[in-house]
Amino acid sequence: MNQTSIHKAGYVAIVGEPNVGKSTLLNALLEQKLSIVSARPQTTRQRILGILSTDEAQVIFLDTPGLLEPKYLLHEKMVRSSLLALEDADVVLLLTEASRGSHLPPVVEQAVKRTAAGKKLVLVINKVDTVQRQAVLPAIDHFSHSGMFADIIPISALKGENLQELLKTIVGYLPEHPAFYPADSVTEQPERFFAAELIREKIFELFREEVPYSTAVQIVEFKERELGKIYINADIIVERDSQKGILIGKGGSALKRIGQRARIAIEEMVGRPVFLDLHVKVREKWREDEGLLRRLGYSPEEK
Ligand code: GDP
Ligand code: MG
Repeated sequence: MNQTSIHKAGYVAIVGEPNVGKSTLLNALLEQKLSIVSARPQTTRQRILGILSTDEAQVIFLDTPGLLEPKYLLHEKMVRSSLLALEDADVVLLLTEASRGSHLPPVVEQAVKRTAAGKKLVLVINKVDTVQRQAVLPAIDHFSHSGMFADIIPISALKGENLQELLKTIVGYLPEHPAFYPADSVTEQPERFFAAELIREKIFELFREEVPYSTAVQIVEFKERELGKIYINADIIVERDSQKGILIGKGGSALKRIGQRARIAIEEMVGRPVFLDLHVKVREKWREDEGLLRRLGYSPEEK
């Protein structure tokens, strides 16, 4: 890597109504299927992380389930999760589709106004392949006069139109920062890497500070079995017996909860049923074990 070049890294939230093409865009940018694309709305029920690493930048995408009027409990949860993604983001991409013209649903507008303070807000008009080129101009004009957006970029996520321009814009707004994640583990085996991240995420959701921060997750096996079901065997590694006890819980109840949540999240990611086999193991000083760190994907010195 060129020592004098500036490296940028940061979080990018993709928000917008269901079906506007958020997952399609994420997949197109990452050129691999990390999120689930469906013709029906609301299949993405939670944040899915996608990471794009180049020599100059690391872009960490937060896919969001869509901002809707919260009519049902599930919707409320989805909106809350979208707002969380907004809070974490350095750049917010607000996706709309060309056929909707200058219309933004009020809930999207409100949510963005409330949470995007200090964030670079980029309006992405998707599906320009579905309309005449000139038909997009009034909307671009309207939104540029609104002063809400740092940039307005028309794209077609499906046809790959203008994606490089979008990426350049995103990277332009990211802060100078070294990569947050090792580039290798993400590109080589994204699903394996994300499965471990999702298990870790559930541990963070369910337990208080000290335990999650002393925890690593190692995927021991990740393979397809009959009928397209995926078998995953993973070790949750902690530093002390007391932490192991907490993660397993009474009669295994805590581990079961981690497993259930993680399995659902991984199934959302891979789009197939998953059998998740979790074990908790104690490795004192696992942070100092170089071989283990490498297997876990932490290898900052190597690049
Ligand atoms: P999400 O709910 O926002 O994640 O939307 P998806 O990515 O699941 O896309 C919803 C539908 O819109 C799918 O059928 C996609 O193939 C389609 N779609 C996404 N982007 C484009 C695009 O640029 N052009 C066209 N014509 N269809 C698109
Ligand atoms: Mg989606």
